[in-house]
Amino acid sequence: MKQEIAFIKREELKEKPDTASLGFGKYYSDYMFVMDYHSQNGWYDPRITPYEPLTLDPAAMVFHYGQAIFEGMKAYKAADESIQLFRPEKNMKRLNDSCDRLCIPQIDEDFLLRAIKQLILTEKDWVPDGEGTSLYIRPFIFSTETYLGVRPANQYKLLVILSPSGAYYGDQLSPVKIYVEEQYVRAVIGGVGHVKTAGNYAASMKAQEKADANGYAQILWLDAKENKYVEEVGSMNIFFKINGEVVTPKLNGSILPGVTRDSVIQLLRHWNIPVREEKISIEEVYAAHERGELEEVFGAGTAAVISPVGELNWNDDTIVINDHKIGQLSQDIYDEITGIQLGKKEDPFNWTVNVAAVEV
Ligand SMILES: *Cc1c(COP(=O)(O)O)cnc(C)c1O
Repeated sequence: MKQEIAFIKREELKEKPDTASLGFGKYYSDYMFVMDYHSQNGWYDPRITPYEPLTLDPAAMVFHYGQAIFEGMKAYKAADESIQLFRPEKNMKRLNDSCDRLCIPQIDEDFLLRAIKQLILTEKDWVPDGEGTSLYIRPFIFSTETYLGVRPANQYKLLVILSPSGAYYGDQLSPVKIYVEEQYVRAVIGGVGHVKTAGNYAASMKAQEKADANGYAQILWLDAKENKYVEEVGSMNIFFKINGEVVTPKLNGSILPGVTRDSVIQLLRHWNIPVREEKISIEEVYAAHERGELEEVFGAGTAAVISPVGELNWNDDTIVINDHKIGQLSQDIYDEITGIQLGKKEDPFNWTVNVAAVEV
């Protein structure tokens, strides 16, 4: 796509929030990227435009039939003040996989990445540089055609918005308590669990509410058919360290293929630590704990990078992992990946992409 990206300037810039009070998803930058689709002309009119509310027809198809997908990635202020992305081509690819599953037209991955870089360059003062902070990037696409009737829409909007976000944890990784869900399921094989579509998250909230009410931070989902095999946690993939070996559920069509998951696996292989992708039942996890072999459990996802698990509750049978403390491997992986993201550590995998090196 050779299209020019238009720039529509805003009159007044917002006041930047204090780095200490950033939190997550509270603030949005001055500009956003927008592009439209019509079946007659494909994707058109790419533009960087002031961040502002949208106007949509009440019969816009997204409200009724839910063709809505998104991505989540981050830009980091590196040690040398440059701005880095982490494996953004994986997010572009996954966006198209999500489009495909929801019958949304494909995007030009190189073009969108170029647009995202240009948006970040425009908003470079919004990339925070405190410890653990980043600029969260949220690309998303939804159907806009005015029509009531179930079929793929002929019109869509793609937007990219930016939100400066604070450290997920304070100074230290803190282990979370997790509730193993038996009543509700997240995703089925053949369904949409392997892509980032809005409905997956709507469907997860009932269980999350139950977990919250019981004092648990997140849900561990089991497979929808047998309620037996571990799938993933909230919006993270899950890893178990059992007797010196690491196991993570094999991608099966109902698990989201996380970029962080893939990075953790590559890193473990690089370190010669045995790692297997295979079906693992919740019974096996509890049995490993019983034998004293369940050494560490952690989630992996863009938001927290690594999230140690300190406790599991399965049918009111509670087990404590590593004395509610962070395991050494969880800490090492966290340090390595965040070190690479911030340009403080060697990047042997060529994972980082410098935003400044953009040809417009
Ligand atoms: C986004 C997401 C993940 C993690 O993916 P990353 O690419 O590592 O951020 C895992 N599970 C679900 C359900 C997700 O939505």
